[in-house]
Amino acid sequence: MSPDRVFAAGFVHLVGAGPGDPGLLTVRGAEILRTAEVVVYDRLVGDDVLALASASERIYVGKGKGSQALDQDEINDLLVRLALDGRRVCRLKGGDPFVFGRGGEEAAHLAEAGVSFEVVPGITSAIAAPAYAGIPVTDRRASSSFACVTAHQRSDRSERAIDWTSLIRACDTIVILMGSSRIDWVIDELADAGLKASHPAAIVESGTLPGQRVVRGNLGNIAEKAAAAGIGSPAVVVVGNVVKLADSIEWIGQRPLHGVSVMVTRDEGSTGVLSSLLRSLGANVLGAPTIRILRLEDESGLHDTVSNFGRYDWAIFASASAVVHVFLAIEGAGGDARAVAPCRVGVMGRGTAAALRDRGIIPDLIPESYVSESLAEALVAELGPNSRIVIFGALDGRKSLAEELRAAGHEVNLVPAYRNVSIAIDPLHVEALKAGQVNWVAFTSSSSVTRLLEALGGGGMFSPKTKVACIGPTTAATAESLGLCVTTVSEQHTIEGLAGAIADFSKSGVA
Ligand code: SAH
Repeated sequence: MSPDRVFAAGFVHLVGAGPGDPGLLTVRGAEILRTAEVVVYDRLVGDDVLALASASERIYVGKGKGSQALDQDEINDLLVRLALDGRRVCRLKGGDPFVFGRGGEEAAHLAEAGVSFEVVPGITSAIAAPAYAGIPVTDRRASSSFACVTAHQRSDRSERAIDWTSLIRACDTIVILMGSSRIDWVIDELADAGLKASHPAAIVESGTLPGQRVVRGNLGNIAEKAAAAGIGSPAVVVVGNVVKLADSIEWIGQRPLHGVSVMVTRDEGSTGVLSSLLRSLGANVLGAPTIRILRLEDESGLHDTVSNFGRYDWAIFASASAVVHVFLAIEGAGGDARAVAPCRVGVMGRGTAAALRDRGIIPDLIPESYVSESLAEALVAELGPNSRIVIFGALDGRKSLAEELRAAGHEVNLVPAYRNVSIAIDPLHVEALKAGQVNWVAFTSSSSVTRLLEALGGGGMFSPKTKVACIGPTTAATAESLGLCVTTVSEQHTIEGLAGAIADFSKSGVA
């Protein structure tokens, strides 16, 4: 079938969303989420994963225990109907679609109806939840096999019953899904099958998610411990000697920002380095982008400038986004990095320098301190008299650098390369901020402070429990002038410095 005919007839992507941490979605899964027209999703799909979907139509077919938004036949029919309407559907399921996810039944139904589909496996909670609790499902020291079973069998017994005796004889590690409410039954079955009360066991609730909780013990006490901790769903039960390895492998709780939530106002479309660094340190990152970066509606000025770099002695890039958009314009005109050759090149910060290096240009000037005043000073020292300078930045961006350079007698052309459009902040994040559930808000620029406060309707939304971290003195001054109490300013005015400052403060036990 030709590709256009395939898509005209609709298409279903059966995608595993992973166990909850959005970082554990596959690259292919993320690609489909960005492009599918409709997303049909279940209860266990994490909010942060769903947030990656571009589709305006999202259909919840979640099955809660006891309640069911749609039954399986209705879901099967819905998928076929959407596909036959010519839609590209992402059927998003928690974990892996074929591990107790009934993905096999949905695939069979699609095949029968003649609907084209693909299966994108996901990371199953059966492996990921133990891993995030420091429990490897196999390990040469403790286990050479593992089994994944469900505690929830169909009441009509149409499924094969688990043969617990054979299971414990054949497998070293047993992972039980859907077991949190049936833990007593599972333990009875395992004991009847011959496992001792001293056999190690653990329960991992909300594995890989910020609220992950782990209870470790043995078959004799795990139910009591879980009840005392109020462990609920979703949870996996792990039974086997591998549980003991967590004593040395447990890693989640070792990270300096474990259990700390940080709101990051970094703009959408930027590299996301700050979020990534904070996550590596164990933080729960709440992305609160306030702007989206878009191309200019009228790019004629930009196109004219990039065709005439020869008019200038220096080209200054105010941000990584400026680099991206200037290069889009250069490439649009059929050029490449050589277009910039007539100029010496300056940047405002390290991220901007990296964006230029990616395009084969090593900046001639990176200021020691990443604030525009410092760039102006460094430039003034470097420039010959009456230099001609072009500065690429945002439409309505800061003008202070241009003004200082003009004041020093140079000819400056400030050329917008892109525009910022305000976007609303996720209401759930606003609620979390008000309720004092956000430990830190990290600001990377003065404009990120003003924009966040604008989007929130003022600093009054900040709970006194929320601390504020700023990348440098200018950002801190803006935050303080708007009534925020700044807790820490990074010594090094870089993204790494900012993440490090938050971690240092938290490690010192004050947070
Ligand atoms: N296809 C899914 C499993 C669906 S069955 C997968 O591969 O992960 C639903 C069960 O999965 C839940 O009852 C629970 O036992 C487990 N589960 C799913 N997400 C979980 C999580 N984040 N933490 C712990 N258990 C989880």
